[in-house]
Amino acid sequence: MKSLIDNARSFAATHVADPRNTAAFEALRAGQSPEALFITCSDSRVVPALITGARPGELFELRTAGNVVPEYQAPLPQGEAATIEYAVSVLGVRDVVVCGHSHCGAVGALVRGEDLSSVPAVRDWLEHAVDPEGAVRTVAPATPDVAEAVQAHVLAQVERLRAYPCIARRIADGSLTLHAWYYEVHTGTVTAHAPTTGADLRPAGVRPAFVPL
Ligand SMILES: [Zn+2]
Repeated sequence: MKSLIDNARSFAATHVADPRNTAAFEALRAGQSPEALFITCSDSRVVPALITGARPGELFELRTAGNVVPEYQAPLPQGEAATIEYAVSVLGVRDVVVCGHSHCGAVGALVRGEDLSSVPAVRDWLEHAVDPEGAVRTVAPATPDVAEAVQAHVLAQVERLRAYPCIARRIADGSLTLHAWYYEVHTGTVTAHAPTTGADLRPAGVRPAFVPL
């Protein structure tokens, strides 16, 4: 923790006070206008700003265990839904990225059917990850990087997003694009499913195809 504290302590002096950065930070006072909503796992190996090169103000983030997008359940309060709605309806992001990653503990636990009874909050949360068609659990066998399962899972979460009224409205008027990404933590490689504004990403019988960006 010490190095984290040390860096936090010196951040203003070493970065913000740097003449090359001062104006950009000062502009943040006026508000934010991020380009995209980036939904990914809480995993510490996934660092969206590092991967995308986003600077402060450019990426609005939602991080959940296993990058699960819960089913839309109005009128129940949901932090995830609030974050998504704010990004899409207030900030007006034009793109939403759902980014899964290799070696994901959450998706791995699902595909391996691990006993999660000692972590009931994790168990119950991951139940949200299993879509009605069981896309994640039908992908087998599980490789150590659980790539295929993660990719199927990402596509399932993208489909869930479509049920959010704010997303559906923006897709209907053609002003929002959904993206499905897969990040390999040990190589830094990012692959993606073809961006879409309309059609279901998982037509029957078609396996997810992720290709380099
Ligand atoms: Zn993960």
